[in-house]
Amino acid sequence: MAHTKARWEWLIAPWYDCDRHQCRHTLKALKQVANDLGTLPRVRFSGRRYKPASLLPAAGLRCGHAGAPYQQTSHSWRTAERPIGPARPDRRGGAPASGAGMTGLPPLRGRATAGRLLAELTWLRVGGPADWLVQPADTDDLARFLRQLPRNVPVFPLGVGSNLIVRDGGIRGVVVRLGRGFNAIAVTGQRVRAGAAALDSHVARRAAAAGVDLTFLRTIPGSLGGAVRMNAGCYGRYMADVLVAATAVTRAGEVIALSPADLAFAYRRTTLPPDTIVTEAVLEGPSADPAMLEARMADQLARRDATQPTRDRSAGSTFRNPAGHSSTGAADDTHDLKAWKLIADAGMKGARLGGAQISAKHANFLVNAGGATAAELERLGEAVRKRVSETTGHLLEWEIMRVGEPARDQQEE
Ligand SMILES: Cc1cc2nc3c(=O)[nH]c(=O)nc-3n(C[C@H](O)[C@H](O)[C@H](O)COP(=O)(O)OP(=O)(O)OC[C@H]3O[C@@H](n4cnc5c(N)ncnc54)[C@H](O)[C@@H]3O)c2cc1C
Repeated sequence: MAHTKARWEWLIAPWYDCDRHQCRHTLKALKQVANDLGTLPRVRFSGRRYKPASLLPAAGLRCGHAGAPYQQTSHSWRTAERPIGPARPDRRGGAPASGAGMTGLPPLRGRATAGRLLAELTWLRVGGPADWLVQPADTDDLARFLRQLPRNVPVFPLGVGSNLIVRDGGIRGVVVRLGRGFNAIAVTGQRVRAGAAALDSHVARRAAAAGVDLTFLRTIPGSLGGAVRMNAGCYGRYMADVLVAATAVTRAGEVIALSPADLAFAYRRTTLPPDTIVTEAVLEGPSADPAMLEARMADQLARRDATQPTRDRSAGSTFRNPAGHSSTGAADDTHDLKAWKLIADAGMKGARLGGAQISAKHANFLVNAGGATAAELERLGEAVRKRVSETTGHLLEWEIMRVGEPARDQQEE
């Protein structure tokens, strides 16, 4: 296999089976790489230099001591020629990735990481590893990748994980997280065009500075892609009220244009297939004075801070209000059927299970009070549902999405 210098710069090689310094296989591999490049490549992972053996996976070579094929570097997936083995687990924990029958990934200009621990990417700080975390460079890269990804490999779009409990066993298949290539925001007149990775709060602020009222997005901590999918909203306004058009990439890798009618918005719901990835949206809001919009956003933030555990690790409202409507924040909003009231009346405010807790500040917020597992959060949520059902007759419906698999030992329980 020929090596090019570009390909070997900034390799990340987190796993290797043999790190014996004098391993003859290591030395042989190093010699081969050095010959091809004329110099040794730089290898870094988390700011730490690795032992020479970590060059083996980078070089797509095997070490005779370990026997297993090496794989996984961040940038080396750019070439299709390398043999790619099944994903291996993140060294920081989690179950070995099954790969859902995956034997390799198609080429990608962006980044692919095997076994990435999703707890690092969710608001609740829980979640086992994704078989692969894929961060495409742009829409073309994503579309090409999905076209070539075997159809039996499941794909899950991840925003910033502010509405998710990712279970402790993680997510099988490919988790797609949009990054830098998808966060541009441009305002023209009353319309705002933004990439799906842009944070709702950034979209609101950019719009407000240009005199466009999308202030309701200011206090929602998700990404625009997640907001489209979830029909996110508060203070009486929802994505459904402001979305003009969206662009998405289907699981088959087709780039499609979506109208609001295509999405069939409902309360915290759209009909977007779960593996279709929104890449961009165009929103429109009424014109207003930027200073007034700024003041309104500051007021909304202060109101949130006063009533919700905004500094705790949560995923927002845990359960839907039985009436199916979110709290509007209006003075005449009735509270009789609010989930938080039912939970408080059932005596579950402040309830705790391991590191999971029902917030003492707002009873509809499930928080990671420290070291919680996804299983603890989910079990506490289910305990709340049971108690509320027994005491009030209302069976609460989860608003937080629960995705992925339980950890292996939890499956056996
Ligand atoms: C403190 C707090 C307050 C909150 N307040 C509100 C609120 O007032 N109103 C409200 O509506 N929500 C609220 N939420 C919930 C959450 O912020 C929203 O649901 C948000 O829209 C989720 O966006 P995300 O990027 O975090 O998506 P994630 O949580 O990562 O994912 C949620 C869903 O969206 C999908 N998704 C994510 N990105 C994309 C994409 N690019 N294309 C297709 N699908 C995608 C995922 O597959 C998943 O199905 C709150 C959460 C927290 C933590």
